[in-house]
Amino acid sequence: SRLVEGLTKTRDNIVSGIDSVFHGFSKIDDEFYEELEEILIMGDLGVKATESILDDLREKVKANHVKEPAECKQLLIDSIKQQMQVGETAYRFEEETSVVLVIGVNGVGKTTTVGKLAGKLKEQGKKVVIAGADTFRAAAGDQLKEWADRSGVDMIGGTEGADPGSVVYDATAAAKARNADVLLVDTAGRLHNKKNLMNELGKINKILEKEYPQAYRETLVVLDATTGQNALVQAKEFSDVAKISGIVLTKMDGTAKGGIAVAIQAELGVPVKYIGVGETIDDLQKFDPDEFVNALFD
Ligand code: GDP
Repeated sequence: SRLVEGLTKTRDNIVSGIDSVFHGFSKIDDEFYEELEEILIMGDLGVKATESILDDLREKVKANHVKEPAECKQLLIDSIKQQMQVGETAYRFEEETSVVLVIGVNGVGKTTTVGKLAGKLKEQGKKVVIAGADTFRAAAGDQLKEWADRSGVDMIGGTEGADPGSVVYDATAAAKARNADVLLVDTAGRLHNKKNLMNELGKINKILEKEYPQAYRETLVVLDATTGQNALVQAKEFSDVAKISGIVLTKMDGTAKGGIAVAIQAELGVPVKYIGVGETIDDLQKFDPDEFVNALFD
């Protein structure tokens, strides 16, 4: 599958190391666990998730009276799967009138994600309106318009430097007039100026509450998996300024750092809802933790 293909580098990075531990050790001792810990941390799973996975593994090893390192592999897979169950991964915006706010810094694949998501929702027969509220970057609007045209969905944009709030206001009017199912809002994410960002998101939220109160609200943060630990830092910073309901991890195809999905979920307690494994619409996939872990150990 595309997922298995896309995760090749991450799989090589994590699983070959794990296999060498399972085959290189003759007994399950502290050294064995330390070696596993190092591999999981090197694999970008993060300290928090790694500790919790290994605590769980230790319990499973005890409970199952396992003596051979090789027999631990399935238990470890189960522990990682368990670790990846955070909260309820609902896609309510596919079910009811919704606003999906998309945030993320430049270059992470935010515009592409909004475009892909619009195309997917349209394929499901939904009426979609895009608000191009990232008026900070001139090219963002043009790029988004291309995606919108390709998918045949409406886009409300603004000129460079236009007030994002007024773009969102116009977009809510368009969404209401067209009886839209989903209003997708692309925002500018300038993390280096947290106060501005907070003000801007606050303004957008206020307009949405006032003009579009009936809509279910989803806030997705887009992160670039290839940046590894930096994506985790961004995730934390965004969660300081916004109530995030889901994570989109892009560029999982080009990276050995896919383990970051585990770390980000553990740190934020928010589920990864989509991963990007390429540049086409079909490459934005709903994230299924079990499928992800199975693909890793395939
Ligand atoms: P933005 O600045 O955050 O809006 O980023 P863009 O949407 O412009 O994306 C930046 C680049 O990343 C573009 O060349 C996209 O085609 C590429 N991109 C986005 N998502 C993915 C993905 O999942 N995989 C790969 N390989 N490339 C991606």
